[in-house]
Amino acid sequence: MSLRTQKIQLNPNNKQATLMAQHCGYARVAYNAALSSFKSGLDDGNWKTLYDIKKEFNARKRDIFPWCDEMSQNASKNAIHNFNDAVKRWKSGQNRFPVPKKRSGKQSYQADNGTNSIRVERKRVKLPAIGWVRMTEELRWTGDIGRVTVSRKDDKWFVSILVHTDDANTMVQISLIDDRLPVGVDVGINTLATCSDGTKYENRRPLKVHLRKLRRAGRTLSRKVYLSNNWRKAKSRLASVHYRISCIREDSHHKASTAIVRKASAIGIETLNVSGLLKNKKLAKHIADASLSRFLTMLKYKAERRGIPITEASMFFASSKTCSACGNKKAELTLSDRTYHCNSCGFTCDRDVNAAINLCPT
Ligand SMILES: [Zn+2]
Repeated sequence: MSLRTQKIQLNPNNKQATLMAQHCGYARVAYNAALSSFKSGLDDGNWKTLYDIKKEFNARKRDIFPWCDEMSQNASKNAIHNFNDAVKRWKSGQNRFPVPKKRSGKQSYQADNGTNSIRVERKRVKLPAIGWVRMTEELRWTGDIGRVTVSRKDDKWFVSILVHTDDANTMVQISLIDDRLPVGVDVGINTLATCSDGTKYENRRPLKVHLRKLRRAGRTLSRKVYLSNNWRKAKSRLASVHYRISCIREDSHHKASTAIVRKASAIGIETLNVSGLLKNKKLAKHIADASLSRFLTMLKYKAERRGIPITEASMFFASSKTCSACGNKKAELTLSDRTYHCNSCGFTCDRDVNAAINLCPT
């Protein structure tokens, strides 16, 4: 048995989209109600259990959410369970104390009522209190359907489906090539990935036309009256250009990681300095770095699924400065030095390939 999640874009009609938005609202209200009753319990010195919180919410729900009888109760029930999990994480020191969910935040709700309570048939999914909603693609996995979460990003709706699937079904359709070798992978902003065998995978840049659209949408938005209807329309147009660009980036990441996994018998990667990333205030760099660590995560899970060992070099390993032929370490190497030249043994090679060879597992 293994778990697989697939996030699929939904294609709801207007009525369904309105209902889904109401369910998100219902889940948010339930979460916040659970939070406030738990907090009031803390103030009075009595620790409220999940059972107390549920009971209190059910007594009050018609006052705080008048449409709740038309909603699926799974939305509120799962929200309260999520709150309970957040409290558990807080108690064990994993998280800070839960905060109220905002109307402007990410909108989502969990629609299932336990395993196999939701049906999926080809390109549609049956959601409680909403009915059959069209999906843009079919579910890739077969097996028992677990958690089903509906979420909204800008004006697009998605369903994320967790499947408990048999191992026989998890062999993905991609085939591994015959003569596989260990591969070291160096990641970067300009060239997404450089392999120790010399192949490079470019980071597909969003096309010029998208950048032009982005600028135009941004300009249009800045001219609209804040919170007016036209402002909202302009905002959703800008969001959809951003979404398109993120899809282009994600696509190139998927293609490169799949190609690398297909040809590798073992993979070596570097460890990105995540705490260093958080200190960085420059947004563009931050986004680029965040997408690099996402790429490495992708590479890791794809390798794991196919049983390919993956080793991560220590964060302090100087993969770029070390000579891959003799092991000599350069004191200085600037980003503009595109070629690595070793003063000790005379080895000369592309800078990124040198780093990739250093990362290659032996
Ligand atoms: Zn050398």
